Amino acid sequence: MTTAAQPSVASPVPMLDINRQNGPLLAEMERAIAEIGRSGAFLHGPACKSFEEAIAKYCHVEHAIGCASGSDALLLSLMALDIGAGDEVIVPSFTFFATASAVWRLGAKPVFADLIPETFNIDPADVARKVTTRTKAIIPVHLFGQCADMEGIRAAAPGIPIIEDAAQAIGAEYRGEKAGSMGLLGCVSFYPTKNLGGWGDGGLITTSDATLAAKLRVLRDHGQNPRYHHSLVGVCSRLDSIQAAVLHVKLAHLDDWAAGREQNARRYAAQFARLGIDRQLGLPQVAEGCATVWNQFTIRVPGGRRDALQQYLNERKIGSAIYYPIPLHLQKCFEPLGCQRGSLPESERAAEEVLSLPIFPEMTREEQDRVIGAIAEFCGVAGGSVKRAA
Ligand SMILES: *Cc1c(COP(=O)(O)O)cnc(C)c1O
Repeated sequence: MTTAAQPSVASPVPMLDINRQNGPLLAEMERAIAEIGRSGAFLHGPACKSFEEAIAKYCHVEHAIGCASGSDALLLSLMALDIGAGDEVIVPSFTFFATASAVWRLGAKPVFADLIPETFNIDPADVARKVTTRTKAIIPVHLFGQCADMEGIRAAAPGIPIIEDAAQAIGAEYRGEKAGSMGLLGCVSFYPTKNLGGWGDGGLITTSDATLAAKLRVLRDHGQNPRYHHSLVGVCSRLDSIQAAVLHVKLAHLDDWAAGREQNARRYAAQFARLGIDRQLGLPQVAEGCATVWNQFTIRVPGGRRDALQQYLNERKIGSAIYYPIPLHLQKCFEPLGCQRGSLPESERAAEEVLSLPIFPEMTREEQDRVIGAIAEFCGVAGGSVKRAA
């Protein structure tokens, strides 16, 4: 008889397996979608409205305005503040492209700020240095699920509107306040890999400002109100009802999933510490007063060995990802801004050192052990005996 039980060593460990999350909810989501189909209310119908209300409640804000993506949420937020040519908006350089491209697309100037090495989030001291009379907004990103230092940012730029990029951080808290509820506006993404991921694109803006909320509803709908009367030049950016219905089903589980991510994060930290490799890996730090939702578990591999570690994991079919390999101030498209290499040293260093490991809540203990084991091996630690890394 051939052996049925091959060691699980050969089976891949995915960076994220979205199907494991959707699987148990499929029937419920399919029912919700069928209902949309029967109703014929495909855009901004009752499903959308009730989802917006649920998110507003969840995020502790008065209003939530659905739109087509997290990127559009950023764009619409800036439009609602009338930001355009001649204006500056301070953004981190170490973030997803959309944070800065929204500013650029409106003809305004993204001004890049450096990061705090412990949290990867925007450095309030650098924000203070970059404020000018033209600064019209600041977009702190709650990177990898952890809120930026909001108190520090407010103090660095008193009175300047804050748009939170909470694309990766729905549910995260900072001193008891929810991500998306601390700035004038908050931007959420429902891209499938986010903690609350849809079956396609989707986004939303949170605010407790009624005037801005009303303006955003007009802006996302071509600027028309009433129909065919355009007081503003808006965009076409809707959250469709099918996405809203799917997301509403998933919202009920969001906190449980965050707890699963937290458990995986603690286990990584405990195991890497037990193996004595926690320091050389540069484990993610949670700042005081922050409750992160662990959209990513991002380690630092210094000394130019990051790519070698990723290669090592690839060879063992273990997923990992580099968020982000190039800081935005060094992107080709932003060359006209004239940013030099060396101008944001921490962002540049992070781009060379970071590696995100699988952290999705449905990953098994065995899978996590394989990730930990492979990294320990790479670090020259095996079976509890510590050897020097090659
Ligand atoms: C995902 C993401 C966005 C954009 O969201 P989309 O829904 O993909 O358009 C913006 N900012 C950050 C930090 C993100 O991670």
